[in-house]
Amino acid sequence: MNSCTPTRSPPMPEQILVVDDERDMRLLLRYQLEQEGYAVTEASDGKAALKLLRECSPGLVITDVRMPFMGGLELLREVKQLLPATEVIVATGYAEIETAIECMRAGAFDLIRKPFDIHEMYSCVARALDRYRLNASADLVRVSQSFFATNEFDRLPQAIVEGSQGIMAADAVALLMPDVQGRLAVAHASGLSSAAEGLLLCELGERLVQALPSDRTPALVVPGLEDQRLGSIRALGQETSLILQPLLVGERLLGVMGLLRRDLPRLFSKKELDRMAVLVSHVVLALENGRLAFQLAASERLATLGQVAAGIGHEINNPSAYVLSNLGFIREQVLALRQGAQVDLAELEQAVLDAREGALRISDIVRDMRSLARTDDESGGWFDLNEAIRSALRIARIETTRRAIVQADLLDGLEVRGSPGPVSQVFVNLLVNAAQALEGWTGSRKEIRVTSRREEGRAVIEVSDTGPGIPPELLPRLFQPFFTTKGATGTGLGLSISRNIVRRFGGDIEVSSIPGDGTVFTVSLPTRSQAEG
Ligand code: ADP
Repeated sequence: MNSCTPTRSPPMPEQILVVDDERDMRLLLRYQLEQEGYAVTEASDGKAALKLLRECSPGLVITDVRMPFMGGLELLREVKQLLPATEVIVATGYAEIETAIECMRAGAFDLIRKPFDIHEMYSCVARALDRYRLNASADLVRVSQSFFATNEFDRLPQAIVEGSQGIMAADAVALLMPDVQGRLAVAHASGLSSAAEGLLLCELGERLVQALPSDRTPALVVPGLEDQRLGSIRALGQETSLILQPLLVGERLLGVMGLLRRDLPRLFSKKELDRMAVLVSHVVLALENGRLAFQLAASERLATLGQVAAGIGHEINNPSAYVLSNLGFIREQVLALRQGAQVDLAELEQAVLDAREGALRISDIVRDMRSLARTDDESGGWFDLNEAIRSALRIARIETTRRAIVQADLLDGLEVRGSPGPVSQVFVNLLVNAAQALEGWTGSRKEIRVTSRREEGRAVIEVSDTGPGIPPELLPRLFQPFFTTKGATGTGLGLSISRNIVRRFGGDIEVSSIPGDGTVFTVSLPTRSQAEG
C-alpha cells in the first residue's frame, strides 16, 4: 500500500482509491487507471481504505465487495458519511449480485463486473468523476447560497463558520475579524476546545497579517511542517493540522479564517487549499456584500430621519415654546408671591403641570428618535406593537398631518418579538410614503389609516391611503432595492429594507393598490398568543 502522492496544482490528476484484497487485481487496475492519467492509491481492505480516505479525499473509490476486516458495503457507507461528494464504484462477480444491489441502494455510483471490460471501466470511471466534480461544486454552491441568504450582517459570521466547517470537513473553524482597535478577535467559532485556542488562532492570524501584502497565500501547518510566517507553534495539539487563510479584498483585510483538524489520519493537504480558495472567494464576497447591505440600511435609516427631521424640529419647538411660556408665568407668580401679592395657587399648579406635560412630550420625541436611530438593539424579546406604531405616528406626524387626515384604530395587547426601533422604522417608511403619495393629489378624500388586528397567531397591521395608487405593472418592482419613482429625492430603499426588517422578525409585508383609489400595505408579524401573555 502506498500513501497519497502529494500533488501540485494546476492541473491536478484526479485521485482514485482502489480497494481490493487481491494484489494482482489491484495492480492491474492501478496500471490501467494510471495509463489514463489518474493518480491512484491502493488499499487491501476496507479498514486500510478508511485511513487513506481521510488522508487523500479521493474523488472516486473503486472497491471490491468481499474483503477481510471490512467489506465493500460497509466501506461504501463510511465513504458516503465521511466524504459525501466522493463517488463509489463497486466491482463484483456474478455471485455477489444481491450485495451489489444493496450497494446501489446505499449510494454506489455503479457496478462493474469482474473481469473488467476495459472500455466499460474507463467510461464508468469518467462518468463517476464527472459526477464527483458536480457534487463538489454543488456543495460549494449550496454553502455559498446559505451565506448570501443570510440577510443580517450580524448572523453572517455564524453562517460562514458553519458552512465552511461542513465543506472542509474541519473539526473547528474560527472566523477572526478586526475589532475596533484593529486587532483580530473571534467573530464566530465552532468546535474550538477552549477560549485559549481562539486566542492562539488570533495570535497566529496576527503573525500571518504581518506578512501581508507581499505574501497573501494561506498558511498550512501539519505536524513536522511549519509555516515560516507563523513561527513555531507548540500550543497546537500534536496531531492537529491547521489552515490559516487571510480574507482580502484588494489590499483591504476583512479577516482571517482558521480551520483545524485534530487527528493524524485527516491532516489538511495542499490539495485541499484549492477547494479552500474557491470557498474563500465566496466568503469574501458574502462579507463584502453583507457590509454594503449593512451600510445601505444605515444610510436608509439616516435618509428616513432626514425626511422627518424638519417635522421633528417643529414637534420639539411647539412644546418647548409652551414650556417656556409656562415657566415665565410661574416665575412671575413666584415673584409676586415674594412681594406678598395674592396669587391663584390652583392656576400656578396648573402652569407647573402644563410645563411638565410639555417637557415630557419633548422627551418622548427624543426617545422615539433615539429608538429609530439605534442599530444595536436586537434584543429580540416581546414588546408592545402599539408602542412602535405610536412612536412612528409621532415621528411622521408633521409629514402626514399636513397632507391628510390621519386615523389610527389599533387593537391593544398585540405583542410581537423583535426590537421596537426597526419595527417603528417600517411604519415611519410606510407613513411617509403614504403622505408623499398624497402630496399634490387632487382626490376629494385625503386620508391615511393605520389599523391592527389579530389573525391566526399573527398581528396584522394595515397602513392605507386614499392617494393615487400604484400602476399594476410597477407593483412587482416596489420592494426591489433602488426602485423609486421620486427621482433624486427618493432612495428606493425604504420598502426593500422594511421588508428585510419584517422578515427578520418572522413576518412579511405585502401591497395592494387600485390606481385612482389608494394603496394598502399589510404587515404581518408573529404575535404572542393571549394565553402566553
Ligand atoms: P422611495 O420612497 O425612496 O422611493 P421606497 O422603497 O420607500 O423608496 O418606495 C418605492 C416606491 O414605491 C416609491 O418611489 C413609490 O413609487 C412607491 N410607493 C410606495 N408607497 C406608496 C404609496 N403609498 N402610494 C403610491 N406609491 C407608493
